[in-house]
Amino acid sequence: MSKLWEETAARQPTVMRMIENSILKDRVAHAYLFEGDPGTGKKEAALLFAKSLFCLEPEKELRPCERCVNCRRINHGNHPDIHVIEPNGLSIKKEQIYYLQQEFTKTGVESSRKVYIVNHADKMTASAANSLLKFLEEPSSNTVAFLITEQSSRMLPTIISRCQQLSFRPIDDIQLKERLIQDEIPLSMASLVSKITNHLDEARALSQDEWFAQARSIVLKLYEGLRVGGLAILVQLSEDFHSHFKEKEQINLGLDLFVLIHRDLLSIMTGEEYSLAFPDYAVSFRQDALLLTAEALVDRLSFILEAKRRINNNMNQQLLMEQLLLKVQGGHAFV
Ligand SMILES: [Zn+2]
Repeated sequence: MSKLWEETAARQPTVMRMIENSILKDRVAHAYLFEGDPGTGKKEAALLFAKSLFCLEPEKELRPCERCVNCRRINHGNHPDIHVIEPNGLSIKKEQIYYLQQEFTKTGVESSRKVYIVNHADKMTASAANSLLKFLEEPSSNTVAFLITEQSSRMLPTIISRCQQLSFRPIDDIQLKERLIQDEIPLSMASLVSKITNHLDEARALSQDEWFAQARSIVLKLYEGLRVGGLAILVQLSEDFHSHFKEKEQINLGLDLFVLIHRDLLSIMTGEEYSLAFPDYAVSFRQDALLLTAEALVDRLSFILEAKRRINNNMNQQLLMEQLLLKVQGGHAFV
């Protein structure tokens, strides 16, 4: 079973359908540009594509078996007719493209086809990009190129125009969470950051950020303080909030965390608990949800979102936060 193919097809259905079609209809292009965020499976898809071209016993005429000698050699990075170029240090240098061209003047060592994959193709130096362009302009009938990038805007338009472009959709929060957990990021943190960003690198950085870890616990404390209530406590909570969230961007993030707490409450209320931002608080959130109506929660959410709009309009931040907490606690609308 080609589990890898199915997994990739589940994550990137459009891309994999186009790949399937071009193989089945024997319309494989000379060059592809795979473009999308980190962690969206671009290199995996290029390798799957390459394996289906070389596999000796493909399933359903195209899915690589993952068992034959060609599939295994591609998985181990030692198939003689497949070349993968990665940045050497910060960039892909002209010599690396030159080496590729030398390799390609020879005919396929074992087959009539040759494949090259240029990962992080946007990191080519200007001279490397120009060499590659010449290469793309004179495609031999049996070469297939995969250029992979997270930032196609940094690539030469003349290169892009020679490629068939496939855009990889961003990973969703559940896929991102799973990926972070594989990286041994704790479930509580992985669940939260995957709701804040859908960029793998950004999510990894946030998970390890000390300021963010504190932000998380301050906002949770703020939420719990609201349960206790009292004006003095509200003022104190607002001050604690402001000693940590100073810049507008930080306040926005703090309010986002506050929104996520309320989304969790709403998910619990509607019985959709499978993807909470704060799974380690599920028990206490469940108790809170019993004391709230969906209407009150929706009001709270609208107060917070209104506060976010006002922050962006440069309203006095401390005043705004105090107002917000009063509103959230009292359940009144902004005036
Ligand atoms: Zn195979």
